[in-house]
Amino acid sequence: DFEKEENLRTLLAWADKFRKLGIWANADYPRDAGRAVVFGAEGIGLCRTEHMFMEQERLPIVQRMILAKTREERQAALDRLLPFQRADFQGIFEAMVNPETGEGYPVVIRLIDPPLHEFLPSYEELLVDVTRLETQGGHEEELEQKRQLLEEVAAMREMNPMLGLRGCRLGLLFPEINVMQTRAILEAAAAVAKKGIKVHPKIMIPLVGHVNELREVRRQLETVAKEIAQETGEAVDYKFGTMIEVPRAALTADQIATVADFFSFGTNDLTQTTFGYSRDDAEGKFLLKYVDGLEVPGTHEKVKILPVNPFQSLDRDGVGQLVAMAVEKGRKTKPEIELGICGEHGGDPDSIAFCHEVGLAYVSCSPFRVPVARLAAAQAALSKVEKDK
Ligand code: PEP
Ligand code: MG
Repeated sequence: DFEKEENLRTLLAWADKFRKLGIWANADYPRDAGRAVVFGAEGIGLCRTEHMFMEQERLPIVQRMILAKTREERQAALDRLLPFQRADFQGIFEAMVNPETGEGYPVVIRLIDPPLHEFLPSYEELLVDVTRLETQGGHEEELEQKRQLLEEVAAMREMNPMLGLRGCRLGLLFPEINVMQTRAILEAAAAVAKKGIKVHPKIMIPLVGHVNELREVRRQLETVAKEIAQETGEAVDYKFGTMIEVPRAALTADQIATVADFFSFGTNDLTQTTFGYSRDDAEGKFLLKYVDGLEVPGTHEKVKILPVNPFQSLDRDGVGQLVAMAVEKGRKTKPEIELGICGEHGGDPDSIAFCHEVGLAYVSCSPFRVPVARLAAAQAALSKVEKDK
């Protein structure tokens, strides 16, 4: 029970005086956000909004939104999702208040980033159902419904969903999704601001690879923000930024920085796309043997293919180089650009030392890793002072 651990809390408070990195947390729900504050998080670095769509009462509406044949049908589904989202965000803003100042901590809300297969019914299962119903005979109405659903799902089916209609691509093809989410974020922020709490939402766009993608989303967002400011009479102080999580974004970070107020490194996808290793499968299949060492046939020697598990610790020659490059390029275009990390590496002490070295403003990790991150950030700052002596 962290709140009762007096000695640990004293040690962490001492560590906080030395660290340069901010420690934020990844949290999708008000409950997690509240927990993060207890552990000492000073902001939310990633709220993955697609997780909110998975809830039982929402998933069928989300499926209708994805499978909609017309814009009107999609809009009807989005209109039903808006109140849920607004309440989600309001809860997070209210949980993320600095107990000392009464001001809201920064909250980074990422627009939807779904590999579509996570939302849709399984194509294979539907096919089995249809075949069974065809063989059985009888159930004509059910068969017809399943056939139609199968056809709709087949049209959206992808062989490689992680490289498919994901991230910003979805909101570019269907702008009304971005409009709904932006509306929910800014209306929630305006409602909390009306209660006298200063809120600092940061809207983040996933899987951007080219500046034109980000520019177009920014245009969509600014239009909605103006409407909401007029409707509510509250000009919410929001920021607009992007994940850097595919190599192309790192390579062109100087261009991307022209339209971004902040970058957040998504090192889970950046590792997957830099190494060409599936983030869902590689660790369970071959990767740990690469790290542990492969036995040389006929000897007892082992040869290591990789120095570290790149999904856990930043590989300084691989993903680390891309991060360092994007930091440099981003700052060249926009010296004041805010830089952070929200991939799993944000809670790994060795990666935190790297983030300190390249001068990020904060790391964001799961709430339970926040205490260790606070210590690791202090250690990174102190050992840098030692080295520079
Ligand atoms: C990432 O890719 O590092 C990231 C934080 O996003 P997600 O894990 O949601 O893909
Ligand atoms: Mg990602």
